Amino acid sequence: MSQRIIDLSLPMTDNMPAHKLFQSPVILPALSHEQTKDFGLGIPEDRMTFATNYLGMLDHVGTHVDALYHTNPDGASVDEMPLEMFFGKAVCFDLTHIPDLGEIDVDDLKAAEEKSGIRVDGHIVLFNTGLHERHYPNPEVVRSNPGLTAEATHWLADRGSRAHGVEGPSTDLPSNDLFPSHRVCRDRGIFHWEWLVNLEELVGKGEFTFYGVPLLIQGGSGSPVRAFAVLEE
Ligand SMILES: [Zn+2]
Repeated sequence: MSQRIIDLSLPMTDNMPAHKLFQSPVILPALSHEQTKDFGLGIPEDRMTFATNYLGMLDHVGTHVDALYHTNPDGASVDEMPLEMFFGKAVCFDLTHIPDLGEIDVDDLKAAEEKSGIRVDGHIVLFNTGLHERHYPNPEVVRSNPGLTAEATHWLADRGSRAHGVEGPSTDLPSNDLFPSHRVCRDRGIFHWEWLVNLEELVGKGEFTFYGVPLLIQGGSGSPVRAFAVLEE
């Protein structure tokens, strides 16, 4: 048996698209190798130069996790959530029949669960909708994602699934401000990763291990993550 790693993260780039309520990140060179030549580091025959970048961003940029505090004033911030919440057994549902701005409801989850061959029992559940493939890097991507219904979000919580993950910048439709899935997450104490990519590589693979570990940001409402899956093959 060998392990295969699938990277599920979107590259972080300057001014990349963001959710309609969020600012895009600023990612710029701070000091270049060229500039730091003048610092006189190292020895004359072997100058030591370095490069750094400036990152100015929300804690919800690109591939990220929402902390419980994001939607619940009394919820745990990202640094207060135990590390073990951010990885675990997982399954990826094929929901490529859901169109842009479509709704993912309980019947879709039941059918996808059946197709996956894995009964959800405390799994992290990822939803492959094909959104990223269809749109990225067109900014339309942030105005097109499907949404999970409140009932579908309850379905996950009822099966002990404490966390799920989606393509695109939100688990809720960008076309209204009702946030049914975020409200259920808030009320049931569950959370999610947003803007995962390459999920199509996990469809039909059964159970695997997902990792989406945040930075330890004090009081963080979320954090960018390097998300990946480990498949045993
Ligand atoms: Zn969210």
